[in-house]
Amino acid sequence: MNDAIEKGLAHADQTDVVEVGPGVLARAGEIIRHSLCRDGRTVLVVADERTWAAAGEPLARSLQAAGVSMADPLIFPGTPALYAAYEHAETIRERLRTTGALGVAVGAGTLNDLVKLASGELDQPYAVLGTAASMDGYTGFGAPMTRDGVKVTMPCPAPKVVLFDLDVAAAAPKNMVGSGYGDLSAKIPGGADWILSDAVGWEPMHPLAWELVQGGVAEALAQPKALAAGEPEAYAGLVNGLILSGLSMQVYGGTRPASGAEHYFSHLWELEHLGQDWDPPLSHGHKVAIGTLAMSAFYERFLARDLAALDVEAAVAAYPNWEAVESDIRSRLSGTLADHCVNETKSKYLEPEALRQRLTALIGSWPTVRARLESQLRPARELQAMLRDAGAPSVPEDIGLTAQQVKETFPIAAYYRGRYSVLDLAREAGWFSELVDEVFESGGIWT
Ligand SMILES: [Zn+2]
Repeated sequence: MNDAIEKGLAHADQTDVVEVGPGVLARAGEIIRHSLCRDGRTVLVVADERTWAAAGEPLARSLQAAGVSMADPLIFPGTPALYAAYEHAETIRERLRTTGALGVAVGAGTLNDLVKLASGELDQPYAVLGTAASMDGYTGFGAPMTRDGVKVTMPCPAPKVVLFDLDVAAAAPKNMVGSGYGDLSAKIPGGADWILSDAVGWEPMHPLAWELVQGGVAEALAQPKALAAGEPEAYAGLVNGLILSGLSMQVYGGTRPASGAEHYFSHLWELEHLGQDWDPPLSHGHKVAIGTLAMSAFYERFLARDLAALDVEAAVAAYPNWEAVESDIRSRLSGTLADHCVNETKSKYLEPEALRQRLTALIGSWPTVRARLESQLRPARELQAMLRDAGAPSVPEDIGLTAQQVKETFPIAAYYRGRYSVLDLAREAGWFSELVDEVFESGGIWT
């Protein structure tokens, strides 16, 4: 096993077993017998028609050969693509209950989330056999779900057992690896946001979670062309990186290690149902890829200026009071999203004296912080080429947006979460609108 994964498992309290490699599928039955159902419990394999054909059927043979007792598999239709709707989790939960079985999900994000939630509601462990390197949620807790027409993340523990056969991952539809690649590329600007948040004392660094999530990112992103070409050897780094990202969230007890402001772009477009009616639906990682590029370009423009030379008194004097911030939010948004953004932004809003102190302290440590940011970030153009090579989106049009629409998402992304990011620092310095303009000027990544 990968040393980093071993270290992560030693500190993660929900996941016990991770097996990634070629040929894992053939051994899956034995692994599940020893790790999930030592007491002879029955298992219920949950798949859709596509994942059943790719890995479910061979898994069932492997389970049978290992002497594991199996309920009749639950196989959802392959088209239209299965959606993370609560009613599907209820279907799975009832099947688990009536058969007395433990769940084994065969699939990627949606199937894993559905079985995770169903198992969590029954307070029982489950296993997942991942079929695509498409996102970092395999080892994460919680399940994003649509319930009564609203998207919520429902609490539930991460899987006890995670299996990944690299040959299966390499044979998955090509858009899926681009999605996982996009989700992992987010760790670059997302990590920079954590460095900043740590520097201002908002969300202190968690060294182990940082090491887990960031340790393998460079290697995982190193072979975009080989990934797009479906070469199984290239998948080890990416799959391990995605699994480590999930483990880091378990170790940390939150999503901070795995996401920064780049994810807010994706969440906001998800709320607008962007690409939901595509076949297959536009994935999380594809939206994140464009958020990642937007934030990488923004960081570049930010670091082209010298924060140490900022006139703090002028910045504090020009900073809008809370009433002005709230009215700006309400002028851009309405309904529950407006209320949400008002609450989140209020939680991180500083009155003038506190802002003065924060900016002064940050400027005092700026040479060190700046050096940390520079070693964390990659040039936006370089990331853009890597994403393109991996088959991930690299221009807004790839996800059905215009550059103007991405530009308009910036201010809302700044308001979307109470978490601190470079968007907040840019607003506090009075640079925000100018920097956003610069990102979209000619000579930028999207012009
Ligand atoms: Zn993500």
